Amino acid sequence: MTRMNEADPLFEAIVNLSKRRGIVFPSADIYGGFRSTYDYGPIGVLLLRNVKDAWWESMVQKRHEVVGLDASILSPPQVWEASGHLANFTDPLVDCKECGNRFREDKLEDPNACPNCKAKGSFTEARQFNLMFETQAGPVADAGAVAYLRPETAQGMFINFANVLNTSRKKPPFGIAQVGKSFRNEITPGNFVFRTREFEQMEMEYFVPPDDAEKWYEYWCQERMDWYLNLGMTADKVRLRPHDDDELSHYSSGTSDVEYMFPWGWDELEGIANRGDFDLTQHAEHSGQKLDYFDPTTDTRWTPHVIEPAAGATRTMMAFLIDAYTEETGETERTVLRLHHKLAPYKVAVLPLSKKSELEGPAQKLFDELAQVYMCDYDQTQAIGKRYRRQDEIGTPYCVTVDFDTLEDQAVTIRSRDSMEQERVSLDKVLPWLNDKLS
Ligand code: ATP
Repeated sequence: MTRMNEADPLFEAIVNLSKRRGIVFPSADIYGGFRSTYDYGPIGVLLLRNVKDAWWESMVQKRHEVVGLDASILSPPQVWEASGHLANFTDPLVDCKECGNRFREDKLEDPNACPNCKAKGSFTEARQFNLMFETQAGPVADAGAVAYLRPETAQGMFINFANVLNTSRKKPPFGIAQVGKSFRNEITPGNFVFRTREFEQMEMEYFVPPDDAEKWYEYWCQERMDWYLNLGMTADKVRLRPHDDDELSHYSSGTSDVEYMFPWGWDELEGIANRGDFDLTQHAEHSGQKLDYFDPTTDTRWTPHVIEPAAGATRTMMAFLIDAYTEETGETERTVLRLHHKLAPYKVAVLPLSKKSELEGPAQKLFDELAQVYMCDYDQTQAIGKRYRRQDEIGTPYCVTVDFDTLEDQAVTIRSRDSMEQERVSLDKVLPWLNDKLS
């Protein structure tokens, strides 16, 4: 991974906006921050939730053959023994003998030069460093108490394969989906929330008849690309890149990455992999349990193959943020987040023209009505133009201004984020007006 040049104007603008407007804060900020961990503020929590909800809607809600799961984060070593993570989930670590900094060897731009102190040939031999966080479960710190924080959500789906199959009455092709936190002790976290040690993933394991695996792999590559595009990501900034043969894991017969053109170049948002029967077979062997499917139509048992679209929620949120960020000059100077309305933290803001006035009653009443359906902001401080800019900056698609004419004509002004056009709409028509625009 190329480290972002911190002077890059777009990157700097995103980090500043995030801090200034409560999208993302450095974690433990009052103690000077803590090792590339981040907290999602009042606006960020909504944006991140909307990314996850949009994924869940397309992957679970709109498909009768996919069900959800929320598996535990703590897990015993057996899971990671079987999955291969204990032995293989490693990155090559090198130390610079001059400045003492550590790097991931496979991500160095020049394998002979230290990116920190620029010393040549100063690296130690690479050591394999396991990325899993190890901890103890229970009060006695013996070998039996060792537990791991999951480095991916996927294993939760594999170890619950039989539970889900037996209780949901699904049959292949069917999927199990999960959104949740994962932890990796990354050697070089960085580029804001692109690579962190604690992050959120959105993963789905799709179990298919072995002969159909290739067909479903192609299907999911297309579906996942469409998801980003349908949510408004700029078409020429997102691409599907099939892995070269030397990048493939030994069990994978095909993997493609969805990549976004970040300020530092193309980088991964999601991996879609044809994993064969590797995972179910491994867990069946290690647990001694049957993890296959009895097919009543052919009277045979077989192990389904798995297609896995595995995306990062926090990383995807960052990509949408960068993609939506626009600075406009000319007659009106403003910063706008041109987010798809599904992702916008607030869908609408109610703005009484002046505070502590008789406008508060109707404004509060309108807020109460709209907030039943939408995340609705309420802002009554500063000049109205400034308030519009504040909403533009966090991507609110519509602002509703309650003014003194409202008291006479029972109507309000609705201003659109993108066109800045204004329309007078009667109070009782505001909700249907929004329903129409936001559907
Ligand atoms: P890399 O090679 O960049 O370390 P990976 O290929 O190991 O990543 P996967 O295991 O395929 O990543 O994880 C699926 C998705 O989870 C990634 O595409 C990414 O969006 C997200 N992800 C993985 N590691 C991190 C991290 N440290 N911080 C944020 N998101 C991550």
